[in-house]
Amino acid sequence: MPELPEVETVRRGLTNLVQGRTILKVEVRWEKIVGMSEAEFDAEMADRKIEKIDRRGKYLLFRLSGNKTLVSHLRMEGAYYTVPAGTEPGKHDLITFHLDDEIDLFYRDTRKFGRMNLVDTPNTMQVAGLAKIGPEPTEDDLTLEYMQKEFQRKGAIKPFLLDQSHIAGLGNIYVDETLWMAKIHPLQPANTIDLEHLTHLRKAIIDELALATKNHGTTVHSFTTAFGEAGTFQNQLKVYGRVGEPCYRCGTILVKTKVAQRGTTYCPHCQVLHD
Ligand SMILES: [Zn+2]
Repeated sequence: MPELPEVETVRRGLTNLVQGRTILKVEVRWEKIVGMSEAEFDAEMADRKIEKIDRRGKYLLFRLSGNKTLVSHLRMEGAYYTVPAGTEPGKHDLITFHLDDEIDLFYRDTRKFGRMNLVDTPNTMQVAGLAKIGPEPTEDDLTLEYMQKEFQRKGAIKPFLLDQSHIAGLGNIYVDETLWMAKIHPLQPANTIDLEHLTHLRKAIIDELALATKNHGTTVHSFTTAFGEAGTFQNQLKVYGRVGEPCYRCGTILVKTKVAQRGTTYCPHCQVLHD
C-alpha cells in the first residue's frame, strides 16, 4: 500500500501533469470505486477544472472548480497516469478522465480496492477516514506534547502507528523502519514508551518520511509512482524486506513476525520488549 511518501510523490506528479486541465468527460469501468453510476459521475465531473491537488495523510484531494473536491484513496494498488487522448485503456485501467489539451488521465487499480468520494469542498474533512485523521508527520504538526498525550494507550505500538487517527501517513514499511530507528519493539505498549524513546520515534518519523518523499518514495511489489517513475527509497530501507540479513547497527540477524496480521521485521537485539 502506498504510504505518505508515495502518495505525496503521486500528488506532485499529478500537479505537474493535470493541474489547470478541464475534465471533458469521464468513463467508469468499475462503479464501486466512485460510489455512483458512470452517468452520475460523468454528470458531476464534466466541465470542472482541476484547480489544485492537495494531500492529507494518504488521501489525494483533487480541488475542482465549482467548490467540489474529489477525495481519492489508492488503497493497495491504485495509480494514476496520463496518456495521449484516445489511448485504449488496459484491463486494469478502471477510470478514464478525458481532459482538454488531448490528455487522458487513467486510474489503474489491479485490486479494485481504491475509492473516490466527490464532495462539496467545505465538507472534505467529513469523509470517512479524514474525519478522525491524526496530524501530518511534520515538525510543526506532530509535536512532542501531542505524542506524550496521544500515546497514553495500552495497545502495541505497531498497530497504534498504523491507525491513521493517531498520526497520518504511516503504513507497514515506515512503521517497521521508524521503530527500528527508535529502538522500540513492535509489540511495546504505547503507554510504556519513555520520553527518550518517544523523542527518538518522533524525530525518526518526521525525518524518515521527509527523506523518503525526497527520494520519490519506495517502489515495492507492483506499485510505482504515477507516470512510471520509480521511487528509489527501497535502497535505503533498514529493516523492511531484509529478514535474515544482519542489522545495520549491531549485526544481529533480523527476524520476521506477525503483528496485527502484518508482516513485521525487526532486530531482536536492538528492539527489546520492556516491562
Ligand atoms: Zn540491531
